[in-house]
Amino acid sequence: MRVTLDLKDFVKYPFLKESQQFIGSYADSIEEFIQTNTGKIALRYALGRVRDALGDRENREKDSSSPGSDSFGVKQAVASYALARVLVSCQNDRSLIERLTRFEAQRAYSFLIDEEETKKEYIAWSVGIDIRNPEIPFIRYVETVSGLRDDRWRLVNREVRAGMVAVTHEEMDELVREQIRVLLTRQLPLKVPERICQLLQPALEQVTLVYQKQMLERFGTVEEDSFPPCIQAILMALTSGTNITHAGRFAVTAFLHNIGMDNNKIIELYCRAPDFDISKTMYQVEHISGRGGTEYTSPSCAAMRTNGLCVKRDALCEKVGHPLSYYKQKKRKGKPAPT
Ligand code: SF4
Repeated sequence: MRVTLDLKDFVKYPFLKESQQFIGSYADSIEEFIQTNTGKIALRYALGRVRDALGDRENREKDSSSPGSDSFGVKQAVASYALARVLVSCQNDRSLIERLTRFEAQRAYSFLIDEEETKKEYIAWSVGIDIRNPEIPFIRYVETVSGLRDDRWRLVNREVRAGMVAVTHEEMDELVREQIRVLLTRQLPLKVPERICQLLQPALEQVTLVYQKQMLERFGTVEEDSFPPCIQAILMALTSGTNITHAGRFAVTAFLHNIGMDNNKIIELYCRAPDFDISKTMYQVEHISGRGGTEYTSPSCAAMRTNGLCVKRDALCEKVGHPLSYYKQKKRKGKPAPT
């Protein structure tokens, strides 16, 4: 399948091989490029992309204003996509990587939905989906929808025939967006040499600051007093030396990671346990917090109940369906009323 892509398409879909070929000479030596004036500007746009991915509205205007639409501006725009991937790879935080790939996929989707049919077919085909066919091969479907939570994507709610899953025309665009996300996520983190990450250190520090600020805005500083009873009970059991089940360890680690607690702090909490094993604990904590490729969310109240971990319920428990909601609500309640 062939269509003619123009400069605007490279900016809209920087992940396409044609877009990468367009900036070929820039991509050859990132090390030299980021030290040139053009590279510094592209790096500023890259930082804007990461900030956008993190929803940092405050600095959005400053960093992510569009480069020009001439050949030079387009190269900067596509280079900024590549550099944003380098930045999150140096950071090597799964949650950050997922935010960036989600953002890039959503950004491409916003252009894709208005594209004329042949071009849309080509973009979809480039990421492995044939949108001319109202059915998708089973394996591809399962891979593509793995990150979608809506019940309508579940196989039980789908018509599956001869290894093909039926998809409506309207749903195809969403699936292409998801497939872009899946592909981009699979490619990251890139293997970036340490010396390049060192060169990018000032930009990486800014990424860390924005990320931490965002976690604080979402959950605020960690307040143990606001932990739900189930999590408090597991932590109490840890301290008193009671043997904790795998499900209990998973629930408490994922919860603490989700509210923004640093991995070292989580490991410190495990230090209270009499059977503390540093290397085993480090492995478990890093795995659950996403170093292994998947970042986990702490289990819902229903799952906690199934695992016998929902204990000491209180009045607030009646109003929530997730320990994270409990925590957010309790923290909010604890705040003094504005004067
Ligand atoms: S209802 Fe939810 S938040 Fe409350 S103790 Fe049970 S699992 Fe924890």
